[in-house]
Amino acid sequence: MRILVVEDEERIADFVNRGLTSAGYEVEVAPDGQAALNKLHEADYELVILDLMLPDMDGLSVLEKIRIRKVSPPVLILSARGGVEDRVKGLELGADDYLVKPFAFVELLARVRALIRRGQPSMEKLSCGDLTLDCVRRRANRAGKPIDLAPKEFSILEYLMRNQGKALSRTMIVEHVWDMEYDGLTNIVDVYIRHLRSKVDDPYPVKLIHTVRGIGYMVDPATKMADEPVKLDDGE
Ligand code: CA
Repeated sequence: MRILVVEDEERIADFVNRGLTSAGYEVEVAPDGQAALNKLHEADYELVILDLMLPDMDGLSVLEKIRIRKVSPPVLILSARGGVEDRVKGLELGADDYLVKPFAFVELLARVRALIRRGQPSMEKLSCGDLTLDCVRRRANRAGKPIDLAPKEFSILEYLMRNQGKALSRTMIVEHVWDMEYDGLTNIVDVYIRHLRSKVDDPYPVKLIHTVRGIGYMVDPATKMADEPVKLDDGE
């Protein structure tokens, strides 16, 4: 899932890039309109996130150029220009959605998912071993049995499953799931992981949620993990 972020403000570009990357997307950033058009010419993207006030041209003219291409990805406008006129103009020119700055990352992520889902319905199902997540309906299921998860539990599990096989730190999990910096409160992750394990792993012989000592947590279906004491749950 490749996303092109067209944004000249480095701070925002970094923030969006970091967030979407940890949500499992592949992100490229173009700092101006011409760079965006070059990238669109060279590669296919599943989504374009487009700022309107770019140093070299108006984002709307980038949008027009995207729309005349044969393969035209969905476009989400992300702009400080929040007036009705701007929004209408953007949507008339073929933008698929419009989000006004400042914005909460969770909202951007929800819209990104919705737009990508339109084109790729199957991407929203994640699985790991016999555990499956339906990210659209927010339902979890293991070995054919539904698992009842609280919203934050679901979000943590989804984040871990999108990054299967990769260890994620408590800080990364907090920043991703709570959408804020939560220094000193990373213990909350341990509490949630405990809840998750009691629902997702405890009733089953194969454990999917692993503690990675010194780092954090990881979801991985490989059963050999259980034989490696270093990575086993240390029972906190
Ligand atoms: Ca700008």
